[in-house]
Amino acid sequence: MTDNFVDTIVIGAGVVGLAIARKFALSKRDVLVIEEQSTFGTITSTRNSGVIHAGVYYDKDSLKSKLCPIGNRLLYEYCDKYQIPHINTGKFIVATSSDESKELQNILNQSQDAGVEGIKFVSKGYVKNKEPLIECLEALYVPTTGIIDQSALMRSYIGEIEDKGGSISFNSKFLESEIVNDIFQSKILCNEEEIEINSNNLINAAGLYAQEISQGIKSLKQETIPQIYYAKGNYFDTGRNLNIKHLIYPVPNEASLGLHLGLDLGMQVRFGPDVEWIDEINYDVNDSRLDIFYRGIKKYLPSIDKSLLKPGYSGIRPKLKNKGQGKSDFLIQGTKEHNINNLVNLYGIESPGLTSSLSIANYVYDLLH
Ligand SMILES: Cc1cc2nc3c(=O)[nH]c(=O)nc-3n(C[C@H](O)[C@H](O)[C@H](O)COP(=O)(O)OP(=O)(O)OC[C@H]3O[C@@H](n4cnc5c(N)ncnc54)[C@H](O)[C@@H]3O)c2cc1C
Repeated sequence: MTDNFVDTIVIGAGVVGLAIARKFALSKRDVLVIEEQSTFGTITSTRNSGVIHAGVYYDKDSLKSKLCPIGNRLLYEYCDKYQIPHINTGKFIVATSSDESKELQNILNQSQDAGVEGIKFVSKGYVKNKEPLIECLEALYVPTTGIIDQSALMRSYIGEIEDKGGSISFNSKFLESEIVNDIFQSKILCNEEEIEINSNNLINAAGLYAQEISQGIKSLKQETIPQIYYAKGNYFDTGRNLNIKHLIYPVPNEASLGLHLGLDLGMQVRFGPDVEWIDEINYDVNDSRLDIFYRGIKKYLPSIDKSLLKPGYSGIRPKLKNKGQGKSDFLIQGTKEHNINNLVNLYGIESPGLTSSLSIANYVYDLLH
């Protein structure tokens, strides 16, 4: 950065903002990441399931269906190259009723359309053999699903950004930006002091706050900014290794992938996320949800001991569709959508945003070139 001028500003040091900044830094672009919090990834990028998704759930032609399978492959390659802790666990999507079995066929068709490899139907006996505690009628086996240490991933992205001369400015809140002669003149509140930084490109990867950032970009037409809805996902932890080695997912609903059995890298079991539509951001996990969790889990893990389930953490999905309105997709807007050069706004980057971070970064880079 020279004299408060930088080629590219990325707003938000979550996993997506950092992946984008890394892509620009590796392409020899002078990049600055602005982050309001005192460190990276504290909002949604560490409040998730840490799953490397295969890309089996997304509607044909959606951005998620395009970016997730590519992101999955890029992420495994990245983890191998930079030794990011991860485990390719594989997962079972289990049907516990005949209606759910029909839904498995739809998921298989969708995933084949999206080019997901290796997914197949397996029998109840096959699942029992691999996971003796799990009950189902049949299942889909998805071999390319895994789990990752998302903090280690973000630290690695930061290392690459800084190696290439880019920087991250923490405690720096983006306030507003005015476009003068194709240059973004952005006001940033940095350690309580307001400063102005000019840039050629501005990329809004502020997650739950992306809409708020867009309101502060003067000359951006308000009608291009989508409404945001918050869908909290709560988790209940067991703190135990139950000798389960695969991720176990029920059949999904339109707002979430269902109350799945997740694993951390120490193979401890947790359950969630559920869906709780909220009006204001808060991360409390209400223990009155325990019964809903217990009923959901019992369908595929009948031996679960209720007393093991303890309220854990939560994360909030930045949904672009409200309850009952159907599935949300990612929305990534460039010049074609808002008619402003060198500006990209990312909205609705919910799951599988972690998995797709590298493919989203490539997509954004291509939009600006
Ligand atoms: C419950 C849950 C489970 C999930 N599970 C998975 C999963 O298993 N696998 C998967 O692939 N994806 C999953 N996701 C999705 C994934 O976590 C997100 O897509 C991803 O973390 C989004 O990253 P981001 O960088 O866009 O946003 P964020 O992580 O929210 O980062 C945005 C950053 O912008 C900063 N910011 C905001 N306003 C300003 C401002 N004015 N100035 C400066 N900085 C600002 C924030 O402080 C924040 O750090 C899950 C999400 C949820 C909610």
